[in-house]
Amino acid sequence: MSLANGPKTLAIPGPSMVPDRVLRAMHKPSPNIYHGPLIDLTHSLIPDLKAVARTEHDATIYIGNGHAAWEAVLANTHSRGDLVLVPRTGSFADGWAELARGLGLRVEMIDFGNRDPIDAAAIGERLREDKSHEIRSVLAVHVDTSSSIRSDIAALRREIDAAGHPALLQVDCMASMACDRFEMDEWGADTAIAGCQKGLMTPTGVCFVFYNDRASRARERADCVTGYWDWVPRTRPEIYFRYFGGTGPTHHLYGLREALDMIVHEEGVENVWTRHARVASAVHAAFDAWEAGENTALELNVRDPASRSHAVTAIRLPGRATELRNWVEEEMGLTLGIGVGMAAPDTPEWHGFFRIGHMGHLSGHSILGTLGTIDTALKALGIPHGTGALDRAARALAG
Ligand SMILES: *Cc1c(COP(=O)(O)O)cnc(C)c1O
Repeated sequence: MSLANGPKTLAIPGPSMVPDRVLRAMHKPSPNIYHGPLIDLTHSLIPDLKAVARTEHDATIYIGNGHAAWEAVLANTHSRGDLVLVPRTGSFADGWAELARGLGLRVEMIDFGNRDPIDAAAIGERLREDKSHEIRSVLAVHVDTSSSIRSDIAALRREIDAAGHPALLQVDCMASMACDRFEMDEWGADTAIAGCQKGLMTPTGVCFVFYNDRASRARERADCVTGYWDWVPRTRPEIYFRYFGGTGPTHHLYGLREALDMIVHEEGVENVWTRHARVASAVHAAFDAWEAGENTALELNVRDPASRSHAVTAIRLPGRATELRNWVEEEMGLTLGIGVGMAAPDTPEWHGFFRIGHMGHLSGHSILGTLGTIDTALKALGIPHGTGALDRAARALAG
């Protein structure tokens, strides 16, 4: 008998659960886009987005998903033929690199595998070899959502500076923003990108590019940029429609306003990070217990606790992950994330990975439901696992 009736939980790493408040805020008739409240509402989003990215510099909103933000930031900072250095810790680096190649950039990738963070010293070493400063940017993914590895962005900045290298530090914060601590200005990122559908709790549809003065200077020589992607008219628009290069994403703006009220004005960005850290500690504690069992093949993908994201957790369960995902969805109403980038989709190995999204609108009660459901699936399916996981998770949440 299925126990899937009742509210469903979506625990995939994006899109994340949208709060009812955000959905209600979007349930409005279409507004006037030439004058009236929508104009002020749009202006009000900018300082709050900057508060989330922890920057005093500029912020631009594009209609689009994360791929749009990837392309936007590259187009504004590069010319055809530029060389970019991509440290890889999972398949999202591959995705960004592919768009870079599509724009006519040359890509050099340094692969750190699927289980360890970026080794900043290795990047510093490569930059020191680049005496003619051919490398124009380092494209770093803060949290790679496929592997759930979090890399140290401040350490990358220190290495770039120590090498005396002028490359821009461009950071993909799609998965991490408003989940894992990220400090754009303090850590010395020149640009950061994010989307609204993960930590920012709004249905997929708008994305953000944050950029500082060094990135603005790169914009002056960039020949990849085209009219639509140009961040200049969007950042300080002399007429409203230039914010979006056309009609604004009206209802997304309503939703985002509500989400930013929750994050910036009610809970506070630092408290949001702390909540995610606590929730993630419960996930890690549960897996520590499950992994400790006899003959168990369950394993957290990221071995070093300091490099585990607070937004998403990738798990290895050779041969049985798909079965577990299907069971929790059909029998319990919980949707977990598929494994991405760990094995080719048409191979048996592909069925050995899954992910838990724990980003955005998520409470302690909700993560206990997810962990309890996984524990139930392990029992129902006879998958070997250690005991006491839920006890460990409860202790982690109790603090
Ligand atoms: C989700 C995600 C993206 C891509 O976002 P889309 O909205 O799917 O285009 C890029 N980078 C990271 C790290 C992500 O988590």
